Amino acid sequence: MSLSLYLHFPFCRRRCIYCDFNTYAGSKLIERERYKNALLVDIRSNNFARVSTVYFGGGTPTFLSSSWLAEILGCVRQNFSLDDGCEITVEANPGTLSLQDLERLCEAGFNRLSMGVQSLDPELLKRLGRIHRRQEVFQSVEWAKRAGFKNINLDLIYGLPGQSLISWQKTVRGVLSLEPQHISCYALTVEEGTPLFDGLDKGLWSLPAEDEVIKMEHWLNANLRKCGYEHYEISNWCKPGYSCRHNLTYWKNSPYLGLGAGAVSYINGWRYGRIKGYLDYCQAVENGASLYDWAERLSLDGRWREDLILGLRRKTGVNVKRWLKRVPGQFRDNLRETFKILIESIPRELYHFDGSRLRLSRRGRELSNEVFVRILE
Ligand code: SF4
Repeated sequence: MSLSLYLHFPFCRRRCIYCDFNTYAGSKLIERERYKNALLVDIRSNNFARVSTVYFGGGTPTFLSSSWLAEILGCVRQNFSLDDGCEITVEANPGTLSLQDLERLCEAGFNRLSMGVQSLDPELLKRLGRIHRRQEVFQSVEWAKRAGFKNINLDLIYGLPGQSLISWQKTVRGVLSLEPQHISCYALTVEEGTPLFDGLDKGLWSLPAEDEVIKMEHWLNANLRKCGYEHYEISNWCKPGYSCRHNLTYWKNSPYLGLGAGAVSYINGWRYGRIKGYLDYCQAVENGASLYDWAERLSLDGRWREDLILGLRRKTGVNVKRWLKRVPGQFRDNLRETFKILIESIPRELYHFDGSRLRLSRRGRELSNEVFVRILE
C-alpha cells in the first residue's frame, strides 16, 4: 500500500491578515537551517515502503532556498520508495521565486507547483498583507513554465474585505489568461485571533454581502466550466487529468504521513500530530525525544461521518454500498439505518442518490455546509 507524504515548512516572510496556519514570520536564517536539519532527521527515522505523492506545504516552503528544498527531496528519495510518476508538489508564493530557483526545483524532481495568488487586485493584495504584487504573479508563472513545470495550480480567495464582483471577475480572467492546469478557489473564512477578525470587529473593513459572494461563486463556476475546467471538488477545478492526487488522499480519507512541525498523520485508523512550535520541534528532534503532541483513534461513528463529509466534497461522491461492505458485520445494520435517517433529513434538491452512490447536486455544493452540519449532528 502506498501513502501520501506531507512535509511542513512553517515560515513566511510576513503574515497575511487572514492567516491562522502554523507559520511564523521573522524567523532567522540560522533557525531555518536548524529546522531543515531537524526535518532531515525526521525523514530518516520514518521510512515506509511506498509513497504515491509528496507535498511540500506551509507556510511558504520557497522561503527556504531551492538548494535546501532539493536536499530535502533527495533525502525523501533515499528513505522512501517513490511510485513511478509520483506527484511531487511544492507550494510557493509569487515574489519568493527566481527563474533560477524554479529551474533548480524542476531539476530536483518537483513536478507540480502550487502558487498562492489569492487576488490580482493591487489594493486587495496590499490589504491582505500579501508580499507579492500583481505583476509578480504573471512573471512567476511565466518563469515556472520556462523552467519546465507542466502542472501549475493557482490558489484564489473570494469574499475578501472590500472585494467587488468586478474585482473578482478581473482576477479570475487574469488567472485564466495564464492557463494553469489547476485552480483552487476558497471562500474566505474569518478566524478569531487574526488581524482580519480584529479589523472587521473594529469596523476597519467590511465583507461583501452574502448575495454578492454567491454571485462571485456562480460567475466563477460558469466561467471555469466554459473554459474547460472540471469542478472535481467543492473548491477545486482542473483541466482533464490534472486533479491534485495528494489532496485526493485527504478527501478519500486514505493514509498519509505528515513530517515537520505541527504536521498531522493518519495511519491505521490513528490520527496524530507532531509538536507545533518549530523551535520545540527542533529541540525534540535534537534530544531524541518524542515528536508527538497528540493522538486519537477514530471511532467507527466518527470515521463514517468523516468519510461521508470528505467524500461528498468530491464530484464523484461516496459509494455508500461499498463503504457499508467494509464495516464489521455487527455494526452494518445500525449504520444502514442511521444513513437512511440522515438522507431523509437532507432536502432532496441537495443530493443525488441512486441506491449506492451518494453525491451532492450543484445546489448541494453551493450549500454544502448545510449538508455537512446535518451529517455531524
Ligand atoms: S503566505 Fe500563506 S501561510 Fe504564509 S502567512 Fe500568508 S496565508 Fe499564511
